[in-house]
Parts: sequence; structure tokens; C-alpha cells
Amino acid sequence: MADFQSIIDDIHQQIIAQKNYGEVAGYIPELSDIDPEKFGVSLITVNGVCYQAGDSQDLFSLQSIVKVLLLSMAYTRLGGRLWQRVGVEPSGTPFNSLGTLEYDQGIPRNPFSNAGAIVVCDVLLDLYENPRQALLDMVRRLADDDTIQYDPAVAASEKAEGYRNVALANFVRSLGNIHNDVDAVLALYFDCCSIAINTEQLCRLFLVFANNGQTLDEHYQLLNVSQTKRMNAIMLTCGFYDEAGDFAYQVGLPGKSGVGGGIVAVLPGHFSIAVWSPRLNEKGNSFRGLQFLEQFTTKTQLSIF
Ligand code: GLU
Repeated sequence: MADFQSIIDDIHQQIIAQKNYGEVAGYIPELSDIDPEKFGVSLITVNGVCYQAGDSQDLFSLQSIVKVLLLSMAYTRLGGRLWQRVGVEPSGTPFNSLGTLEYDQGIPRNPFSNAGAIVVCDVLLDLYENPRQALLDMVRRLADDDTIQYDPAVAASEKAEGYRNVALANFVRSLGNIHNDVDAVLALYFDCCSIAINTEQLCRLFLVFANNGQTLDEHYQLLNVSQTKRMNAIMLTCGFYDEAGDFAYQVGLPGKSGVGGGIVAVLPGHFSIAVWSPRLNEKGNSFRGLQFLEQFTTKTQLSIF
């Protein structure tokens, strides 16, 4: 096995020396208060060995990464019937695009676009009596950490300014693919995006996708092997907005990013890796996060390809 700690330290130090890259997400006011120079990395193997560098214990906003967990909650209950409500094709459009919805008759191309995740939230309101608690229970169980919380300030900030998502939800509702009250669906979506997490917790949370759908202690099976394969396929093809192809090309791992600056990726059978740096590139992905992961899979020669 590669010497992960020294490789992580080397890449971290090299990237941190570079300046002038990307901007912190400003459209959610609360997110723009974060120190833009933060940079943390964690990697955990399926044997439970953990490697860290930089600000790996600092909390940041999970944002779109939660879409993977929301999808898992809906998929485990509905199975393939879920795909009548949302597709599994990469969209090639920005995360908050209204673009293809009219043409697609309100069926979002994939569950990791905002429209797709909002439809999944609508599904969850029908499936779970208390979806917020069910999500938090699942997150805490997978990460083996009961301290993980929602961040009400981030959720309130997005509720106050989330005009684009309000438009998306109303548009999808007008096309018949949202069944619950639009405000209730959006409130759930914004709350879920607000979870505060650090890179170590995020790695633990996503190890399940590297470990055939099971926690390392084998006490909890979130997904079966086939479902885990499909979740990883959707992460690979749709996990990085309209930069998913580029991420597959440069990094070669299934993963998911969020506008809080986090990226998590997995090598099935081996490890999960999470990087956090709040400055984003023009596609909304962490600038340093992408650089880090590209160098990591290139140096270690560990990718799904
Ligand atoms: N809550 C954010 C939004 O809906 C999530 C976007 C993201 O992380 O890509 O705009």
C-alpha cells in the first residue's frame, strides 16, 4: 500500500503554497463568512486506518454532498420505482439549472442537480414521518458520531435568499412532479444542505460506498451490493455538476462536491477521501479540492480506471 500520509502531506503543502484561485460561494450569505484559506484532507481505508492533513477537524457546510444521502434514503425504500421521478443521466448543465426541465416534463435528469434533489425531498416527505430526523440518524450512524448537527443559521440564510431553488421547485410542481407543499419541500432541502461536518466525519460517512454498502463494523447495511454499485455510478457520472466528465478524466473516482467547498470520493474496496477548501472554481467545485484529488490519484495510481 502507498504511504498515504506522506503523499497527502506533500500534496497539501504544495497546493497550500499557491495563491489566487477561485471564490467562496457568495449566494448563500452565511457561507461567505468562512475563512477562504481553510484546507483540510482526510482519508480512511476500509481497514479503518485514518490519515489527515490541515484543517480536517474544522466544520464546514455539507451542501450538495447531502444529495447522495437523500438519494440513498429514497432509493432504499422505493428501489427502481424512484427512477420514474428522477433520471440517472448526466445533465451537462450547472447545478441550479432550469434548462432542460420543460423539455423533460419536470423529470430532472439526475438526483444530484438541485431540481433532482428537490424532487427527492418531495419523495422523502411521503416516505418518512420525520425525514430530518431520519437523515440525521443515518448520518450519525454511518459516521459513528452523534455530535453531527444541522446548522440553522446556514439553513435560514439559504431560505432567505434561495430564489433560484424556489423557482425550480415551483416549476417542477407546475409540471406535476412535486406533490407536497412547495415551501415544505424547500424547507426540507435547505435544512438537509445545512449539515455541518468536517473532512474526517465526511470520510467515515462515505466509507459505506467503498465497503459494499455496509459500515466497517458490519452492523449496518445501508445499501446492498448492487445498489452501492449504482450509487457510485451516479456519483461518477453526475457528482460534479457540469464538470463530472472532467472530474472522471482528471481524478477517476466516484464522488460528490458541494458549494461549501467539500469534495468526497471513494475507491470501492479501498478507501474514502474528503477534501475541503472553500474557494470554488467557476463550475462551483472546490478549486484546491480538485487539484488535490487529481494529484493524489495520479501519484498513487489508485483510481477506478
Ligand atoms: N444548497 C445549495 C443550493 O441549492 C447546494 C448547492 C451545491 O452545493 O451545489 O444552491
